Amino acid sequence: MKSLVCDPTDPKAIAAMREAGIEVDVRDDITLEDLEAVIGEYDAMVVRGRTKVREPLIDKATNLKLIVRGGVGLDNIDVDYAQSKGVEVRNTPAASSNSVAELTLGYLLALARPIPQATASMKGGKWEKKVFSKGMELAGKTLGLVGYGRIGRLVAEKALALGMNVLAYDPYIKEAQAGVDLVDLEDLLPRSDFISLHVPHTPETHYIIGADAFARMKGGVRIVNCGRGGTLDEAALYDGIVGGKVAGAALDVYEDEKEERGKRFMDLPQVIGSPHIGAGTGEAKARVGEEVAQIAIEFAGR
Ligand code: NAD
Repeated sequence: MKSLVCDPTDPKAIAAMREAGIEVDVRDDITLEDLEAVIGEYDAMVVRGRTKVREPLIDKATNLKLIVRGGVGLDNIDVDYAQSKGVEVRNTPAASSNSVAELTLGYLLALARPIPQATASMKGGKWEKKVFSKGMELAGKTLGLVGYGRIGRLVAEKALALGMNVLAYDPYIKEAQAGVDLVDLEDLLPRSDFISLHVPHTPETHYIIGADAFARMKGGVRIVNCGRGGTLDEAALYDGIVGGKVAGAALDVYEDEKEERGKRFMDLPQVIGSPHIGAGTGEAKARVGEEVAQIAIEFAGR
């Protein structure tokens, strides 16, 4: 099997594929133009989020049988079209779950105690002990999870270990781990001190947390979104913060990650954020590499 690695991929994964007898060419900064010129030679391609695998490229990929997307989202691949041409499309959805769950936990802690704001203040030469001494403990507080899949479960496990009460809303899940109460969204909203989103962005989850949901929440609620942009109505969140209902928010993902990029929130001291770095750990990248190699090796052995 001849494969082309089109995006940065763990060298160990490439070595493992070669050891298994797969011919691997690495061109991890290849342009679309160059890719279109060479793709006909390959049986498999490995991509992350950078390379766009659209219909015209797939039409030129006359030998292609497998596309491996290292990571979760398949938005950069025309999956249905690829499948209609007999190309198998695989991803590595579990590889980054723990890294995203740990980032979420970091945000819960940073919303309870204003660590980023206090750091910024000290870096500005100030000693604002009184300003930053109005924190709270997570122990005994209620965390409401919207979405109880791979990441939601890991967040629940870590929050339980900190002594939080955990509620989860997920209409597709019938059983929860010990200590987690599966509830309706109507029930979760008024009971939660912290609400964390872990749902994919679909027509059904679009603005699942919007103005109506904010109206039903507790005063002083804190919101975390390390899931997907578009599930949280950012305009409603903004109003909730400015109006005083929402005490804080932490965002890793945004409705528009190209132009606006959460800029509207950056003047609000209650909001902390990061540029979509949920999967950004050495461990997650290594796990993505391992899974990519495993998928390619299994496929080659069929
Ligand atoms: P998952 O598929 O394991 O879990 C998602 C859960 O959402 C499922 O249990 C599903 O039943 C539930 N769900 C679907 N529709 C729902 C609805 N209408 N209401 C409530 N629940 C609903 O996915 P996961 O691996 O846990 O990932 C969760 C999210 O995190 C995804 O959107 C993923 O893209 C995102 N993510 C973000 C980063 C990051 O860098 N911040 C990295 C990886 C994944």
